[in-house]
Amino acid sequence: MQYFYILEFLYRKERMTSKDEISELKDEILELKTLLKQKEKRLKELINSSENCPYSTQLSCQEISRYSRHMLIPQIGMKGQIAMKQSSVLIIGLGGLGCPAALYLAAAGIGTITFVDYDEVEITNFNRQILHAEDNINVSKVESACDMLQANSNTLQNLFDKNKYDVVLDGSDNVATRYLLNDMCVLNQVPLVSGSALQMEGQLTVYNFEDGPCYRCLFPIPPPPDTVTNCGDGGVLGAVTGVIGALQALETIKILTKADNVMSGRLLIFDASSTTFLNVKLRKKQETCDVCGLKPKITQLIDYEQFCGSKAHDKVIDINILTEVENICVKELATLEKESVIIDVRPKIEYEICKLPNTINIPYTYFKDNKNSEDITKTLLSFRSKTSRVFFICRRGNDSQRTEASMLILSLLILHFPFTEKKTPEIEQDRDCL
Ligand SMILES: [Zn+2]
Repeated sequence: MQYFYILEFLYRKERMTSKDEISELKDEILELKTLLKQKEKRLKELINSSENCPYSTQLSCQEISRYSRHMLIPQIGMKGQIAMKQSSVLIIGLGGLGCPAALYLAAAGIGTITFVDYDEVEITNFNRQILHAEDNINVSKVESACDMLQANSNTLQNLFDKNKYDVVLDGSDNVATRYLLNDMCVLNQVPLVSGSALQMEGQLTVYNFEDGPCYRCLFPIPPPPDTVTNCGDGGVLGAVTGVIGALQALETIKILTKADNVMSGRLLIFDASSTTFLNVKLRKKQETCDVCGLKPKITQLIDYEQFCGSKAHDKVIDINILTEVENICVKELATLEKESVIIDVRPKIEYEICKLPNTINIPYTYFKDNKNSEDITKTLLSFRSKTSRVFFICRRGNDSQRTEASMLILSLLILHFPFTEKKTPEIEQDRDCL
């Protein structure tokens, strides 16, 4: 017996040792990375200061080599490259659109790029947000982007009061931010390069450029919040955001270099499933527009979350329809699993990704739309002899509550199940299952 104790002790000691070593190595690597960054920054400064070109007053030798492929294009030339060097671009959102756009704009030699993002890097970002490294999980996206592009990050306040931007690039993911950026750009007379992507589709246009329309000219009233699908729920293909983000960088470069045919007054619709681009003419700038019209009602920024009735981010808001006693945790559910019916109300596509054992899948939309009610009744009846307890589970804990609240399922359950403890079914909140 003593022998086993010794073995266990040794095993624990070994585990502790490797844990300590992991932690030590992480700290050491972080320290080395910081030192490396400082040295790379200094090296860059020294190279730049020693490489003034005797034959050009505006570009260094390194810049001439680096951007030579740009300057050979007749539409850009030396003049366009210098214009890019002297310009300042503001990128809002360092997600699927902002990341490729930032990479191309930094590589193109834009003088100053300012990033704005409230969020931190997380594992679900990596399929499309190509600027962020796995080492930067939980790091702010702005810091992560500056890290990758070897730039400096600072706290940014009152952006437009302190800076003059030539172009604003919108890579945000929500309606409230779109209205805010539109109004900010109209009030400061800055073009807004707008992009969006969802699932297999993307869109691109430029607002407030020369005599073109602004976002409000086309959408004077925000859409009802429940009609907007976000990437967190609908999904998005990384290559689609890559295409739109790169096109946003392209339109930005065209504006800065004063090229023709900027995407103003037109909307590009990209359908990745058929690899087709559709170019649609948009309505003209409206004289009655609230912000860019002849008699504007909006002369300063307003509360955009209140105006849109939705938050300025695409995170799902938790709802609380049920009381605390009507919810149970996963561990408790596991103990009751055998004598219960567990209905997973997620969409079929999510159920196929991963599922708890001994569950049946009836998507919430079936209850909501009163679809397949006969099938639902049959399924529930087949469990009649087995149990009196029914639990609903879902991805975020919202749809399971809505299902319970649905009068259809409630009436079905009351009709067909002899409840013993409660007269209403209980809900389990399986957060972050996916
Ligand atoms: Zn307008």
